[in-house]
Amino acid sequence: MNVEPFEFLGEHVAPGKRSRFELPIGQLYTQSEVSIPIEVLHGKHPGPTLLICAAIHGDELNGIEIIRRVLGASWLRNLRGTLIAVPIVNVLGCIHRSRYLPDRRDLNRCFPGSEKGSLAARIAHQFTTLVLSHADYAIDLHTGALDRSNLPQIRVHLDNERAAWMARAFGVPVIIDAEIRDGSFRGTGDDLGVPIITYEAGEALRFDETSIAAGVRGIRRIMEDLEMIVRRKQGRPEIQHVLARSTSWVRSPSDGFLRAIKPLGSRVAKGELLAMINGPLETTGQPIEAPFSGIIIGRSNLPLAHEGEAIFHIARFEKVALAEKAVDNFQLRLEEQVASNDEAIT
Ligand SMILES: [Zn+2]
Repeated sequence: MNVEPFEFLGEHVAPGKRSRFELPIGQLYTQSEVSIPIEVLHGKHPGPTLLICAAIHGDELNGIEIIRRVLGASWLRNLRGTLIAVPIVNVLGCIHRSRYLPDRRDLNRCFPGSEKGSLAARIAHQFTTLVLSHADYAIDLHTGALDRSNLPQIRVHLDNERAAWMARAFGVPVIIDAEIRDGSFRGTGDDLGVPIITYEAGEALRFDETSIAAGVRGIRRIMEDLEMIVRRKQGRPEIQHVLARSTSWVRSPSDGFLRAIKPLGSRVAKGELLAMINGPLETTGQPIEAPFSGIIIGRSNLPLAHEGEAIFHIARFEKVALAEKAVDNFQLRLEEQVASNDEAIT
């Protein structure tokens, strides 16, 4: 079957070709043009269009590196369908090393945006109408906030069957059924009938190798399952996943210096010691205990906390032992692969 050229931003990408685009979003005060860099790979064979995007929060960098590695991967040869890769959506935030836009808005609360609205709304509108509108599926890459790490996890609204399928195919151990937030990119996908999953891994302003490796692998697995790329002959390992029943943040009971004891990914029982907090002259300090049993899926990395500050994010599971096993297996395999610098990460 003959494949038509792919029409994008007023140009055509011929079958079997890849092209770079710049989507203009405005200017700096100095009048220099600012644009979102985009690469489109159009296969010689028919297939779906997948959008992968990162840094909607400008300081969340792991996804930028994930997309760079995907674009250089040998397994993209003989692509079926079309891949649209957008490593930095919030370019202005990224330039300022900030989650937000210079107007202090969170771009991920401004979708689908509007033509005449705020700066954030205008960028959201451009991205929705000119990029997302082409996609059949999308993967949105995020990290934890500043000084907070997330265990690699997928957030998805499981009522959306196609998005739920993508969440399982991605192959990280923890899936969180997350309600759609007003103005989110994921919500706009829902409205347009484009299933979107959010991958959350690592920390803002940091590259984390296991989070990056797991992200590259997840995109590859979804592309295999969409038959956009050839499935590996030797088969690929099954990755167990567990669905979190709910999640809650444990907040600091007082102000002080935090000595976190439990690492990311660890299983905790109700009442188990998570951290100690103390003033600079206190020789003992106050214990912070797990309020329920679960797995730590997010954690503050800063040894400072104010009363009420979120410090541990814990997920509840139907069978917490099963979740622990899934997380352990996942971490072990990835660490081995990262240590051996294995290009063929599965
Ligand atoms: Zn984010």
